[in-house]
Amino acid sequence: MNNTYYGKLIFELSKEGRRGYSLPANPWAAHHTPIPAHLQRTTPAALPEADEQTVARHYTNMSNNNFGVDTGFYPLGSCTMKYNPKINEEVAALPGFTQPHPAAGDANLQGALRLYYETGRILSELTGLAEFTINPYAGAHGELTGLMVIRAYHRSRGDVQRTKIIVPDSAHGTNPASAAVAGLKIVQVKSTPEGTVDLDSLRSVLGPDIAGMMMTNPNTLGIFETHIPEIARMVHECGGLMYYDGANFNPILGVCRPGDMGFDVMHINLHKTFSTPHGGGGPGSGPVGVRSGLEQFLPNPRVLRRDDGTFTMAECPEALGRISSWLGNFGIIVRAYAYLLTLGREHVGQVGRLAVLGANYIKECLKDCYKLPIDGLCKHEFVFDGLRPEYGGEHSDPAHVTTLDVAKRLLDFGFHAPTIYFPLLFHESLMIEPTETESKETLDTFIATLRQIAEEAKADPAMVKAAPHHTPIRRPDDVLAVKAGKFVYQPEA
Ligand SMILES: *Cc1c(COP(=O)(O)O)cnc(C)c1O
Repeated sequence: MNNTYYGKLIFELSKEGRRGYSLPANPWAAHHTPIPAHLQRTTPAALPEADEQTVARHYTNMSNNNFGVDTGFYPLGSCTMKYNPKINEEVAALPGFTQPHPAAGDANLQGALRLYYETGRILSELTGLAEFTINPYAGAHGELTGLMVIRAYHRSRGDVQRTKIIVPDSAHGTNPASAAVAGLKIVQVKSTPEGTVDLDSLRSVLGPDIAGMMMTNPNTLGIFETHIPEIARMVHECGGLMYYDGANFNPILGVCRPGDMGFDVMHINLHKTFSTPHGGGGPGSGPVGVRSGLEQFLPNPRVLRRDDGTFTMAECPEALGRISSWLGNFGIIVRAYAYLLTLGREHVGQVGRLAVLGANYIKECLKDCYKLPIDGLCKHEFVFDGLRPEYGGEHSDPAHVTTLDVAKRLLDFGFHAPTIYFPLLFHESLMIEPTETESKETLDTFIATLRQIAEEAKADPAMVKAAPHHTPIRRPDDVLAVKAGKFVYQPEA
């Protein structure tokens, strides 16, 4: 598409003197006190000048360049880009939730406090953990909070030598990052060829300096760690706690519970599993749950239920402090609550099952074209390692079609690309997570498109390597954009 407006900044559409409106002369001008001369501009502000229609087309065209779950299939692995039901938005916009001030006092906040409390109770039921805080703002923030709980627990027992945390090599990058921010040293354990934690590697690092272990299950390869009871036993025997990265709780929602697997502390991403729109760093929520005996360390403020059934926002003395202002991103909690009540106990268990079915369906339909390094049942997502050699996926040949090329070519067909080059265990990772909200027709079209791209890679690799052909911007220089980004409009001289 190419027209007057497309791909232009509003400054580039500006015409000197062009106006959207003309106003009548101000009959009261004579009565105004003029702005003192020393405060007045000497040169006019560099503002764009445009008529209303140009402004309307400019912003409408820009909004059409957005891609989101509401425009198309978004199989971004590890991100759970599921459809976000619109009723959640309506409920979150109710004035009773948007207008109260958090300092209004318990008596004026009973509805909001009850919603927070009940969301925590539902999360406890779904995870098998005793209590939740919903104050953290994101998954990584939840990780930090959970690790601070683990540190507070060891410190409360005078066990100050536990300064190391075990993180498998398949972990999400936020795990080692949060651990470092929490002041813990990272000890890596290897994965087996089957993609699960290597028990011998784990045994070799256990000791009195281990604060705990962070795990994702199913892990970032989409594989369920079947040795989890054994792993939890080993870590507990050495005095550490088990941390569950539940950002991707989707595949096991309503099917099994981290608390039953032996985890002591976990976080959940409301903005993945519990259907809050996310992307672009928008508001999130990373609730943290703990097993019984660790509640007192959860951050302030906490929402407690009094014996008379009313709710109070409480400050607890043993808490690790505050990690957010008040009760976190409250609107996100409202969305999650609406989502949970919409599904109800009787339907919540379908989420994980359908997410797993969709992922396995895509994997099985495409594994003759794309390299599947770890075969077998996956959970909500899986990882291809680029194209199979018959389709030109040969790492040593510079003319071969890479995962980046496949991802770029998908854009031509109106799909969002899967996650690429993560996890780091393979050279050409292409990580696909369809979520439970996509129809079979959508999955079939996606499968047919990826098959077509594999055929194209064989027949005309140069064409695939030049993709995308139909997007407004084709292959930006990602490194240059990061290192020398232009964030301010500079008019051409
Ligand atoms: C998304 C994700 C996170 C981080 O969540 P943010 O809200 O982006 O901070 C952590 N771990 C895993 C496994 C994830 O998929």
